[in-house]
Amino acid sequence: MAAKKQFKAESKRLLELMINSIYTHKEIFLRELISNASDAMDKLYFKSMSESIGLSRSDFEIFIAADKENRTLTITDNGIGMTKDELESNLGVIAKSGTNEFRKLSKEAEDVDGDGSHEDISIIGQFGVGFYSAFMVASKVEVRSKFYGADEAFLWTSSGSDGYTVEACEKESHGTEIKLYIKENVIAEDGETGEDYEEFLLEYKIRSIVKKYSDYIRYPIKMECVKRERDEENPDEYTETSEIQTLNSMVPIWKKNKSELKDEDYNEFYKSKFHDYTDPVARIHSKTEGTATYSALIFIPKKPPYDFYTKEFEKGLQLYTNGVMIMEKCGDLLPDYFSFAKGLVDSEDLSLNISREMLQHDRQLKIIAKSIERSIKNEFKKMLSNDRERYEEFWKEFGTQIKFGIYNSFGAAKEGLQDLLLFYSSAEEKLTTLEEYTVRMKEDQKSIYFASGESITRINALPQVEAVKDKGYEILYLTDNVDEFCLQMLINYNEKMFMSVQSSDLDLETEEEKEEIKKKNTDNKELFGIMKEVLADKVQDVRFSQKLKTLPVCVSGAGALSVEMEKVLAQMPGDNKAKADKILEINANHPICDKLQFLYDNDKEMLKVYADILYSQAMLIEGISLENPAEFVLKIAELMTK
Ligand code: ADP
Ligand code: MG
Repeated sequence: MAAKKQFKAESKRLLELMINSIYTHKEIFLRELISNASDAMDKLYFKSMSESIGLSRSDFEIFIAADKENRTLTITDNGIGMTKDELESNLGVIAKSGTNEFRKLSKEAEDVDGDGSHEDISIIGQFGVGFYSAFMVASKVEVRSKFYGADEAFLWTSSGSDGYTVEACEKESHGTEIKLYIKENVIAEDGETGEDYEEFLLEYKIRSIVKKYSDYIRYPIKMECVKRERDEENPDEYTETSEIQTLNSMVPIWKKNKSELKDEDYNEFYKSKFHDYTDPVARIHSKTEGTATYSALIFIPKKPPYDFYTKEFEKGLQLYTNGVMIMEKCGDLLPDYFSFAKGLVDSEDLSLNISREMLQHDRQLKIIAKSIERSIKNEFKKMLSNDRERYEEFWKEFGTQIKFGIYNSFGAAKEGLQDLLLFYSSAEEKLTTLEEYTVRMKEDQKSIYFASGESITRINALPQVEAVKDKGYEILYLTDNVDEFCLQMLINYNEKMFMSVQSSDLDLETEEEKEEIKKKNTDNKELFGIMKEVLADKVQDVRFSQKLKTLPVCVSGAGALSVEMEKVLAQMPGDNKAKADKILEINANHPICDKLQFLYDNDKEMLKVYADILYSQAMLIEGISLENPAEFVLKIAELMTK
């Protein structure tokens, strides 16, 4: 008897979760085991092709055998098999892909109320936890495996979280045989809500699970099935014979004609293949011939995958050549701004033996990537004009990605992407495209106006926003950190320049007003001189302005880096704490002007205090926190108690 070994801690935890899972789609265990079998056969087939071993596709098959009497279900493949070490390392730990996230999940699912029950983890399917899902339906699992070319076979046995054993065993041919000892049915107190495990031994059930999740598997999935035939002499009687049938159609879904496929087929395929539990928001199924010949099936998920914002996330599409997967994640097929897309590409033009490094330089692959990028863009454009609601749903999840695309490419990627952009706009208080904005522009309107801030409410409170709205111009509200950086890269849209309402270049005044303010500024040159001296390291200039209505001051940006951008940079890690060039603008129509003039004539020390307070107020309006709030409060308190 082989010594019992313990699972690694988190694997043990995962296993306990599986064993006690009340997950409603327990049937996915079969999908996982079949997919592992198919992977193992892919590996051997691939090896055979590249090392000329001489096996052909038709040599491979998966066999399912249900034994009702002994309550066992056996899944056999003649793939590459596992060595003793591999049995230990592959089945003793959780599949890498999901490890970290699962650790978190298992913490959440910990027995919180102390009654020994576990929460439903309906997202189990997402993690590719694969093999362990067998324990959702089996009380004991035996894995017999013989590595291709090895002399010995080994048996891995486990009854769950208390550990596993590995020992030598007999097995004729290479491959893996997984025997599940199906759990006893559980009958609930109400007699209804129990668990039926026995159904996984029934032919019709197995057939339907295979059809649902594994139809496209390119190797035959065979099973001994009962065949009922009418007796020729006695038409009322049937004879039952058994025959071996292939349960799956084996045609990869992407090779099928669109007309043969329903939404459901695509959605099921997507969910099972890419471990998602919601239907995708869009899909592209294309067959292209010409400079590159390939079929592609691409899905846009409804929500980002759980690890999308982590370092672990890897973009890419699966790459097949003639139906054989050669790469699980080919990153070169997707630009970063479409990194959320999932799917696969199957091309005849690629060689099977191509290495990752060679592939990077492959001309054919580059052509395919370009073509895929184009079709994704087109799909989004189509969605934008035909199904705005769905597009906005997509935009909420992934819009930032596309804006980053424009920014990171320094505007080089703007063609095709700029028309996908949506911004919240003052016009109808909803999302708008840049094109829609320009169509609505007034005749005398020179620029596309925008304002940045943390939220729509905050932006609405900006004094400059009021001024622009009063002129009847529409404003784009930039609430995403990347927004202003993105517009800066675009520079213009349809020859219309972008203009921040928070910029000192904002030019709304009439010629007359301009003259007037110019004179007023010259007249007060010395007054501003004193104020500027006080604020020397804070602002570039102090001046009167016409654009404010009710508020006494505002701060505007004078350079390429706006005040909002300064705020964004300040939040980011690293030392890039670049400062915006600021102009302190004082409302020329506010009583504060007279007061400043009075102080200039009578109390220059107090004028300095006022300069400081006005600057602090302008910063507060912008939502920038003061360097020394206490000092500000003291100054105000002093004025209040005067
Ligand atoms: P994943 O398939 O995501 O890697 P699984 O838990 O499904 O995770 O499987 C773990 C590993 O066990 C696989 O990566 C593979 O190396 C090995 N394995 C599982 N089933 C088989 C099989 N039928 N034949 C060969 N290897 C297998
Ligand atoms: Mg797997």
